[in-house]
Amino acid sequence: MPIVVQHLRRTYGDFIAVDDLSFNVAPGEIVGLIGPNGAGKTTTLRSLAGILRPTSGHVLIDGHDIVEDPIEAKRRLAFMPDEPHLFEYLTVEEHLRLVARLYGVDDFERRSRALIEELELTGKERSLPGELSRGMRQKVVIASGLVRTPSVLLFDEPLTGLDPIGIRRMRETIVARGRSGASVLVSSHLLHLVEEICTRVIIMDHGKKIADGTVAELASRADLTAAGSSLEQIFMRVTGHDTTPPGPAEQP
Ligand code: ATP
Repeated sequence: MPIVVQHLRRTYGDFIAVDDLSFNVAPGEIVGLIGPNGAGKTTTLRSLAGILRPTSGHVLIDGHDIVEDPIEAKRRLAFMPDEPHLFEYLTVEEHLRLVARLYGVDDFERRSRALIEELELTGKERSLPGELSRGMRQKVVIASGLVRTPSVLLFDEPLTGLDPIGIRRMRETIVARGRSGASVLVSSHLLHLVEEICTRVIIMDHGKKIADGTVAELASRADLTAAGSSLEQIFMRVTGHDTTPPGPAEQP
């Protein structure tokens, strides 16, 4: 199993940001990680990527513990954060080349050309980050993660800041990686897109997992049938923001 999370807990001082979180992601699965602001999604993704050390619990990437065996684990994953931090003095093409060298990617020229085209960065190969828009910088971060072929892809809000064409392209990019067998975990507040591209959804609130399943499974869960069948309706219900009256089955 490429992603195994066992009883993950992460605290900041006394505050528990992620609490007893367990889940797995199989090859080819695209799992949406959703939840209200502050639910613990970014903390979870950063813990999986080995940027934050879990307070307790375990994260295994392709069987390698992210704390005990970080080099082997990180070799197999790419984390694409929502804040596009880039090297100010490297061009778009040089960012991809740097990652390719660090990870020993063969066939760099072909892969880089294909990614630049796929993510619509054509014409910007020689631009520095300061000469790019925010959405373009976001695409460079994502292209840098995809220039190698990790078995685990972690996307934090990959669609924020992209234009409608960029959103459509990114959707296709994520779905294509899932089809080719990667295990994908993607956090987003754009629930209709999550519903469209994800094979499964995990809903978090206050650091805890409060729902996990396909949208159809969640919609047919006994306590959620009255909420409705869209992910947005399910989200409102499980996070306690649903204003629709309970269905007949729930009335006393
Ligand atoms: P959003 O949807 O707003 O991006 P999120 O689900 O990604 O939210 P996190 O960024 O993981 O949430 O934050 C979870 C909780 O942990 C929040 O209450 C946040 O204030 C807290 N938190 C995050 N980083 C720190 C930190 N460095 N120090 C203290 N508390 C933090």
